[in-house]
Amino acid sequence: MKIESRLAQIGSQNDPVTGAVSFPIYQSTAFRHPRLGKSTGFDYARTKSPTRTVLEEAAADLESGDAGFACSSGMAALQVVFALFSQGDHLLVSLDLYGGTYRLLEKIMARFGVTASYVDTNDMDALESRRKPNTKAVLIETPTNPLMMVTDVAKVAAWAKQKDLLTIVDNTLLTPFFQRPIELGADIVVHSATKYLGGHNDVLAGLIVTKGEKVSADIAFLHNSIGAVLGPQDSWLLMRGMKTLALRMERHQANATALATWLKAHPAVEEVYYPALPHHPGHEAQNAQSSGNTGIFSFKMKDARTIEPILRHIKLIAFAESLGGTESLMTYPAVQTHADIPLEIREAVGVDDRLLRFSVGLEHADDLRQDLEQAIDEALREIGG
Ligand SMILES: *Cc1c(COP(=O)(O)O)cnc(C)c1O
Repeated sequence: MKIESRLAQIGSQNDPVTGAVSFPIYQSTAFRHPRLGKSTGFDYARTKSPTRTVLEEAAADLESGDAGFACSSGMAALQVVFALFSQGDHLLVSLDLYGGTYRLLEKIMARFGVTASYVDTNDMDALESRRKPNTKAVLIETPTNPLMMVTDVAKVAAWAKQKDLLTIVDNTLLTPFFQRPIELGADIVVHSATKYLGGHNDVLAGLIVTKGEKVSADIAFLHNSIGAVLGPQDSWLLMRGMKTLALRMERHQANATALATWLKAHPAVEEVYYPALPHHPGHEAQNAQSSGNTGIFSFKMKDARTIEPILRHIKLIAFAESLGGTESLMTYPAVQTHADIPLEIREAVGVDDRLLRFSVGLEHADDLRQDLEQAIDEALREIGG
């Protein structure tokens, strides 16, 4: 069945007892055993909980994996995945990484002896030269955020398999509606479901999907042992959001393409980073492995002095941290999402003080353009340009 149909029907046929079309919230942590040695399949909610199970099965199905795991946030999902590794292990990680993931690796995992090297994961020579005897996995974000660097997942996953490394992909920005990394050879997919999957800026959640018996069993053990699981109410809210994912992603993409194209031609803008635009270096790789583009992109103003007034003058677009929801949000990565990444690394990849990230929402593209246009005009007036 097509993904649109599977999304629209999440949980709708999972309650044969009442026929509830919207799968119920099972607000119970304990489950009665019929007798010694018998279980309904549910014992204690950290291990398995009915509403969460429906979400987890849907996640596994949508990402073409074997098992799904719902976590209390995207960071919790990454923490569970990183718990696969032991003292002395090393990871190869995409350079322009989400700031929270960088912080988890450098401030926490490093204390447990798990180290990481940050490389352009689309550069096979760089990957090979940074690989060590103790390297255990490659963690890819594609496209990255905010610079939207695209990695050829199939190429990296094939190389990783040869070297006996796991391939982990953070698929937050594209969602399974546009890109399914497991079909391209990845072993593990991670999501901040807080973003497009939830889609309404109202639920914090993470997902892990695994492919393969061993990695699925290992993650199941860690998910239950660590306990960073998603509660029944949030599981329900996430499924509620996911039912409309196909419609929302199409609109996010259309709006983002319209706004990015307009900004590319704006005289006050130096560069627009969005793989949907033909000039983007990742344009072809993106089209080859994904069926569409995310709803966020970044742009660099020519003059850093315009940033502060732009953020002050936007009205419809909110100056807020996050992405992937119905409401448009503008972020200043250098001081918000990427503040934990050292200045040298940030500037080396281009996250400087002129860069803004735009999570284009579901408002009408004309209204968004007008809002941004008046904010840029006001900013130019203020700096006297
Ligand atoms: C937001 C985000 C995360 C972290 O997820 P939370 O749900 O905020 O914990 C991880 N990776 C990416 C790419 C993100 O955008």
